Amino acid sequence: MCDTHSATTSLSRDRIAPAIASAGVAVEPAHHRGGRPASPAAGGRADLLVVGRIATGDPAAPTAEAMAISDGRIIGLGSAADLDALTGPATQTVAPDGVVIPGLIEPHAHIWISLLTLDWVDVSHVACPRFDDVVTTLKAAAAHVPAGQPLLAKLFDPSLYPGEPALTRDILDRVATDRPVIVLNASMHFAYANTAALDAAGITDATPQPAGGTLEKVDGRLTGVVGESPAVTMLLARLPRPTEADIARGIRQVLTEFAAQGVTSMREAMTGTLAGVSEIAMLHQLNGAARLPVRVSTAQFSTLAGCTTPADVAAAWKAAGVTPFSGDEMVRADAWKIVADGSNQGRSGYFLQPYLGENTGGHANWTPEGLREVMRAGLDDGWQLMIHTNGDAAVEFALEAAEELLPQYAGGSTGDGRRGDLRHRFEHASVTTDDQLVRMASAGVSPSFLMDHVYYWGAAFRDTILGPARAARLDRLASASRAGLRASLHSDYNVTKVQPLHAAQTAVLRRLEADGTVLGPDERVTPAQALAAVTTDAAWQIHADDRGALRVGARADFAVADADPWTSDPAGWHDISVQATYIDGVPAYTA
Ligand SMILES: [Zn+2]
Repeated sequence: MCDTHSATTSLSRDRIAPAIASAGVAVEPAHHRGGRPASPAAGGRADLLVVGRIATGDPAAPTAEAMAISDGRIIGLGSAADLDALTGPATQTVAPDGVVIPGLIEPHAHIWISLLTLDWVDVSHVACPRFDDVVTTLKAAAAHVPAGQPLLAKLFDPSLYPGEPALTRDILDRVATDRPVIVLNASMHFAYANTAALDAAGITDATPQPAGGTLEKVDGRLTGVVGESPAVTMLLARLPRPTEADIARGIRQVLTEFAAQGVTSMREAMTGTLAGVSEIAMLHQLNGAARLPVRVSTAQFSTLAGCTTPADVAAAWKAAGVTPFSGDEMVRADAWKIVADGSNQGRSGYFLQPYLGENTGGHANWTPEGLREVMRAGLDDGWQLMIHTNGDAAVEFALEAAEELLPQYAGGSTGDGRRGDLRHRFEHASVTTDDQLVRMASAGVSPSFLMDHVYYWGAAFRDTILGPARAARLDRLASASRAGLRASLHSDYNVTKVQPLHAAQTAVLRRLEADGTVLGPDERVTPAQALAAVTTDAAWQIHADDRGALRVGARADFAVADADPWTSDPAGWHDISVQATYIDGVPAYTA
């Protein structure tokens, strides 16, 4: 067992247990109910009737004029006359001023690390088009930070400043020496520290390398660049922790941002990184106080501060009452997260061939035995695996382990049949071979693509990181679909903004922000395929088969938009705005 509360000071153990207890026990997974019509309210009458333009996202019946809802579920779709028998005196009618579309699904975003950085200085490529702007912005910000307080910045991306130096401690010491300066890479796989920040974190030239992380040194001296979560966590560990109030406010702020893009369900892709296992109880507490604006599915991180082995981490989650599919339909624990390699734009993704201008293609975060151990720890408890695999060698590395282990767990004997349908995922799977996609389909692993890698970083991948041939194989939604895989698109927020319709637009067009050219034209998909990847296929990947399309029996999760993406030009999807969202037929967000 391990002390998993070391990362938080504000939440007492006494308060966690009741919250978990009140959160309910394991619920029937959504996919067991998918497609089955819900029992209508007494008398078969709707409590809510939505009338207007409805785009269902269901290819079998793509449009409707009215939607009847009872107890949070859709009980009828069709013309207003069709639904007459389902309404009564108690039925409320709403006629939204816009197109009703299914609530969008964000299958991989980070709430916890993102809320930690909400107020950090923005040194993204958008805010700082030139490398010099990064340093200038940091210096200007340092002037406003009280003495002794750390200067914290986020979204730095060296891959978008080719030819410029790394952001080392020497450069950051020129920003400030009297306080810690920490800059987080946009990928969140790296951070950059000045000398005061290293000192404050207790990291010295003699500090041993943390397992799975890197404290970069040149000639035995720390450069201030640290890589991967275990090392980044060391650097951040002694910063002032956010208070419970900060966290509560941050979570609502982040989820409201998602809802403003039409999202009604999301997967938190690394739960436990900020406040350990208590993060689940905090989400339930918040949702209990006032319903969250977006449903949250959590992926429990397989590395926790205070734990030494994957089995310890698994035991800590279990001891906190966090087991597969536990919680409720607003906050549910669904997956086991593993990070097999780093960031491609940070040149720490693991590739079969070297990076441009280097003689190495990076490395994995685990030994083959270590990866199997951490996978087993999740599989033994019945979790869906969610494995970050960025480069093609990482995909190969994890796929070989999956091919070996998953058959040993197929079928299982848990008595509820879930083990045979866990829908394991590879996250990003940014570059893949044809053979890997076919093998993923047979192994029972599906990919989720950070599709806007293509839009924002496509030119950097093509010109300076991977070269044109590999860059054309980024985020192969068309090939994955041909291989029989159900794939989704995600933002990896706050690596990119949560904007599912923009990601879907990129999947159709594959145009680059930098020069407007098309990258990997063979990987373009149809509008319907792209939209499925942010609705029904993404819902399937988060075990929410009763969401993602508006059909009888599905949950009444929908958004009101100013255009119907299913019938409008994909080049304009980015500009579609959302006025409102509903969860279970109840307003969740209003613009
Ligand atoms: Zn991620």
